[in-house]
Amino acid sequence: MKSLLYSLLFLGTLGAQAQTNIRITSLEADQALKGKYNPANYQASNVISDHKLISAEINQRVNADSLKLFIQILASYSNRNTGSDTVSNNIGIGAARRWIYATFARYSAQNENRLIPAYLQFDQDICGMGQHRNVLGVLPGSDTSSKEVIVIEGHMDSRCGTACDVNCKAEGVEDNATGTALVIELARVMSKYSYKNTIVFMATTGEEQGLLGANAFARYSFDQKVKVKAVLNNDVIGGVICGKTSSEPSCPCEDDIDSTQVRLFSFGGFNSKWKQLARFLKLEYQEELIPLVEVPMQLTIMTPEDRTGRGGDHIPFRRNGFASMRFTSANEHGNAGAALPDYEDRQHTSDDILGVDTDNDQIIDSFFVDFNYLARNAVINGVGASMAALGPQTPDLNLSVFHGRRLVVEITDQTQYNTYRVAVRSETNDWDSVYTTHQLLDTFYPPDQSIYIVSVASVDVNGIESLFSREITANATGIRPLEGNETGLRLLQNKPNPFDLATTIGIANSGIQKFDQAEIVIRDVQGKMVKRLAIGLDKGINEVTFNYGYGKLGVYSYSLVADGKIIETKQMIFAN
Ligand SMILES: [Zn+2]
Repeated sequence: MKSLLYSLLFLGTLGAQAQTNIRITSLEADQALKGKYNPANYQASNVISDHKLISAEINQRVNADSLKLFIQILASYSNRNTGSDTVSNNIGIGAARRWIYATFARYSAQNENRLIPAYLQFDQDICGMGQHRNVLGVLPGSDTSSKEVIVIEGHMDSRCGTACDVNCKAEGVEDNATGTALVIELARVMSKYSYKNTIVFMATTGEEQGLLGANAFARYSFDQKVKVKAVLNNDVIGGVICGKTSSEPSCPCEDDIDSTQVRLFSFGGFNSKWKQLARFLKLEYQEELIPLVEVPMQLTIMTPEDRTGRGGDHIPFRRNGFASMRFTSANEHGNAGAALPDYEDRQHTSDDILGVDTDNDQIIDSFFVDFNYLARNAVINGVGASMAALGPQTPDLNLSVFHGRRLVVEITDQTQYNTYRVAVRSETNDWDSVYTTHQLLDTFYPPDQSIYIVSVASVDVNGIESLFSREITANATGIRPLEGNETGLRLLQNKPNPFDLATTIGIANSGIQKFDQAEIVIRDVQGKMVKRLAIGLDKGINEVTFNYGYGKLGVYSYSLVADGKIIETKQMIFAN
């Protein structure tokens, strides 16, 4: 665990220096990102607006061999470290980014010049190099009224155990030629279609030194008022083999294979637009793709924003207020502890390669990346991004509960369509029920549970959902008090539990009784107070994050104290 602490501190210092002169190298791409263009100039001559056809075509056209070829080309540059060579055409990050740019330009030529290749350039001293570039392919939308932008991205830079080693062999196949190949393949497939919103295909740099390329684009978007609607980050997305080590939440055991599950990491718990994006992507997979696919995938919505002690390009977007999430393989090969002497896994080493030649005929015949698995993940991304880019504006809602489980939902705002979705969950990450209604005011009877967390979406005339709204909770206790607790306050189990660095503690307030202030008091087994955290008392769910950092193992108690009175106490486990 020392290595994780080390790398966190290291990232902190590397990212400390300011980024300046952040700009898009193409005026056309810059204007497209800001919604300042004539959509007619970018309309496909054969517009396909049937979402079922788009989903079927993406599912059919994404190609495992094409993904394999892209990975082989990216690996051939030998070292794609952020500070590596930019002059050579054969090695280094400069050669890699020019190849991606040229590939976007080629796809543009094949699709009526509708995809605009560009660089996002910024100045910052990273690994001894002063200027850096993400590669962008911008596909302008057909409707500039909302000016919203969807981003599909993956980092192209690679590394060895030392973050700035620009000379080691760092083919970075799983991490992250896989995500970069996915982005390029979707640019190839999706440039054929016209979407309402603009779609950006982006390969970032500087991820391994502190998410710096993604940070530059998020900063540019925030400063230039680019309306980023959703970011789908793909990082470590094609490997299926579990290593000896892997960061928590970890894969089952060494050499375990999982080619049918992908993890969706996102920020927040209750009322998080980041988790709502992950849920939307999972819903689109279930409804658009499950009827079409040969190998069904399990999309697992994870509680934390990323693996413990790790980070990804979705995080700078979240920090700038944009909805973002990360797709990552279920199984990964290593925990990034490559600087440790006993580290044996491939991630962040020279061994992160395509595979091995087992019969000595100079041809790789055993692969560490499953190209069909990567293709399935590309399809999930492509269809999810397509629906987000085609769908209508998100509505809002009012909610009331009667007799414990009769939910009355009123749709408000953006009510120009006559079909809506109503999603209901309890305290899990997944929606339990997603209803369809044609009425602005409707009643639902979800399965009996103590808490209902409800959000809504609009469905347009083509049958495409918007992203889902904020969440409103109804505590069934609004009518029926919780057993043994007449205060209307309830302490929820912390998540995740056991935890190792941080955990989220929530309370549910039905509003039966009025309190002025509340706090969570955390104690060790001896009863010694460890921390007091103020927590809100809004009706519904209130949350606070407990950051414990690196410390002692053990069981801790946490109590909800309202106006000086202990309401409820629970236990949690610290397992660092
Ligand atoms: Zn990575």
